[in-house]
Amino acid sequence: MIRLLREIPEARAVPRRGLIHLYGVRKVYPGRGVVALRGVDLTVGQGEFVAVVGPSGSGKSTLLHLMGALDRPTSGDIYFRGVSLRSVANLAAFRLRTVGFVFQSHHLLPVLTAAENVEVPLIARGVSRRQRRKRAQELLARVGLAHRARHYPGELSGGESQRVAVARALANDPPVILADEPTGELDSATAAEVMEVLAGLHVEGRTLVVATHNPEVVAAAERVIVLRDGRIAAIRMQEGRG
Ligand code: ADP
Repeated sequence: MIRLLREIPEARAVPRRGLIHLYGVRKVYPGRGVVALRGVDLTVGQGEFVAVVGPSGSGKSTLLHLMGALDRPTSGDIYFRGVSLRSVANLAAFRLRTVGFVFQSHHLLPVLTAAENVEVPLIARGVSRRQRRKRAQELLARVGLAHRARHYPGELSGGESQRVAVARALANDPPVILADEPTGELDSATAAEVMEVLAGLHVEGRTLVVATHNPEVVAAAERVIVLRDGRIAAIRMQEGRG
């Protein structure tokens, strides 16, 4: 029997310049059968800064979760550097070395200091205690919080906590940072501080995909993906960015 080429993911030509490729990605949540993504084709380039916008419920978080291998698509394919995520058995190990996540809430562990929170992903990779401490200190300095290393999340402002979360996302030096409404709970001045840190990551060559409603974050991106009802409704290039 002849199978159509498009039915054989391995047989597809994989473009070279992109870092993450999505082909016909659909996501149906089990249970109520909500169709969150209805066939998304998208390439995110190496070092690109992409903003994902769209009304609440349009599929932004789902898209980020799938790109970051937090979840698997119902159908369609996702490739990371030409490797199909279908072939990755241990998604947790894959995530540890590939993506850093920043969420709307910082999700810091309240019983750990800022530095210890940044160390958590390093523990998972078996990094020695001494190396962990050094790395956490460097990363906190990087986000302007060296002086807060021994503070607990309850002693930090919202913006500081979010910057610690960015430092934690960077712990394993991932090539990609995925941020889901990273400024959603912050006032505009604090949001600008977090945005500056994120924009700095892009400048140093990291790939950045940010789901956001914040017009300033959108304005800083090189490309804007507009989602509507689980589909890409528009893609805007923003000249002179990046
Ligand atoms: P956005 O980030 O744009 O607000 P989401 O990706 O969170 O959109 O949600 C897309 C759709 O999928 C919505 O209709 C939402 O209710 C639904 N959804 C999201 N997560 C789940 C889940 N875990 N179980 C069931 N439905 C979900």
